[in-house]
Amino acid sequence: MIQKLAIIGVGLIGGSLAQALRQAAYVREITGCGRDEAHLQKAVALGVIDSYELDIARAVAGADMVVVCVPLGAMAGCFQAMAGHLADNAVVTDVGSAKASVVAAAEAAFGELPAGFVPGHPIAGTEKSGVEASFPQLFRDRRVIITPLPQSADWATERVAQMWREAGAEIEQMSIERHDEVLAATSHLPHLLAFGLVDCLRAMEEHEDIFRFAAGGFRDFTRIASSDPVMWRDICLTNRAALLGALAQFSQELEQLTALVERGEGAELEALFRRAKEARDRYANQLESWKASFPAE
Ligand code: NAP
Repeated sequence: MIQKLAIIGVGLIGGSLAQALRQAAYVREITGCGRDEAHLQKAVALGVIDSYELDIARAVAGADMVVVCVPLGAMAGCFQAMAGHLADNAVVTDVGSAKASVVAAAEAAFGELPAGFVPGHPIAGTEKSGVEASFPQLFRDRRVIITPLPQSADWATERVAQMWREAGAEIEQMSIERHDEVLAATSHLPHLLAFGLVDCLRAMEEHEDIFRFAAGGFRDFTRIASSDPVMWRDICLTNRAALLGALAQFSQELEQLTALVERGEGAELEALFRRAKEARDRYANQLESWKASFPAE
């Protein structure tokens, strides 16, 4: 059981984790930390956290588990503020959607990375932000990827894995590089395309009509374009290399599709759609058996 949990960034992810662990009776005391006192007061009023600190050093003092749940661009500042103030036995993890940049930020702050540092990423979320959007079932039957580093102690990796299991999640372990490549293709590229498609339609002169007559396909494809712009700016910038690789591959696909439509090559178009449909159907069937759902982010 966690004695003192410090959640740095009590928003959708941090607030949901706090609630899930409280519901599982796996935590004795939860302290939140953030920049805006009104947000933290709200989190206390909602019963998500017990208390809060505006100062990260004070928030992590005496904590045996520290979970950093801020946007990727704010990770470095958080690690710097906690360096030198962690308890000896503290486990430190994060929920950032790209991992190489988090490790670089931690290395810059801590110098030698602590044995208790184990990065992680829950493959769960919604397009909403803030503590008001948080809920305890967010991680149930979802996956959490943990990416232990060479210096991560086994006991710390197990503590992080157990915390997420208590929150209802299944655990996968992966290298940092693999994580960033896989997530660039399966999450970061689709978000970029959704934002791009909506922006493209918005720029069309008759966009009021386009949005008025948009059907279910538009809604399904673009739901994730309602996600937080700051979070997605940070993800695109911190996972730039892997995302550029995925984008280059997709650009080729788009060129191929353009050429097929231009030349009116129905048989080739149909074959491409058929391959895609089969792959999508296989994925949907696997989802059923994995009891998982779409990563919302
Ligand atoms: P969120 O709802 O906006 O929460 C972020 C929290 O961080 C807010 O409570 C904010 O509170 C706090 N914060 C921001 N900058 C800070 C700073 N410099 N110092 C301290 N606190 C700060 O965002 P989220 O969706 O929970 O995302 C948080 C992290 O989870 C991101 O790294 C994201 O990549 C990752 N993630 C998100 C999803 C998803 O679908 N949303 C899924 C998996 C992983 P104040 O404004 O009061 O400071």
